Amino acid sequence: MSKDLPRDLSKDFSLGTVEVSSTPLERFEEFLQSRGKRVTQQRRALVEKIFKRHEHFDADDLIADLSFGEGDGKVSRPTVYRTLTELVEAGLLRKMSIAGRAVYEHDYGYPQHDHLHCTQCNKLIEFRSEELLAIRDAVAAEYDFRVTGHRLIVSGICSECSSTQRGRKRRPVDLI
Ligand SMILES: [Zn+2]
Ligand SMILES: [Zn+2]
Repeated sequence: MSKDLPRDLSKDFSLGTVEVSSTPLERFEEFLQSRGKRVTQQRRALVEKIFKRHEHFDADDLIADLSFGEGDGKVSRPTVYRTLTELVEAGLLRKMSIAGRAVYEHDYGYPQHDHLHCTQCNKLIEFRSEELLAIRDAVAAEYDFRVTGHRLIVSGICSECSSTQRGRKRRPVDLI
């Protein structure tokens, strides 16, 4: 099964960047302005944190990460949720639903890609496939359909999980 997949997928996590004219924060400011809102200190801190590096995260990951910063850097839970929603609406973040969990990642300034999701360890592996895009476009053309985007999440077991204990869930106790 796995031999049908492209090779070397797990080696390169970040797919690089796409040239964009403004920074995520500038773009977010424009978006908020168009809605009569302002970028507060808290929103600014969140955007800076989120766009420091590309990763897949959920609201809890972000909150756990932020709790390390004390004092002025403290951001309330409702603010985190509200800001995540705004960032999705502004086209800066992409939201996916994976195993019932809302997972976010950069959309603005990051290449279009798809995911392999390991159902054992929850890892997300990113890949790009020109063949897949060609098939998508061909199918869309057949239906006279104008494509604005797509999302493909392939579920399965990653190579690490299938080599450790034949894919059984690894628990901390197994590692001792
Ligand atoms: Zn895995
Ligand atoms: Zn991704």
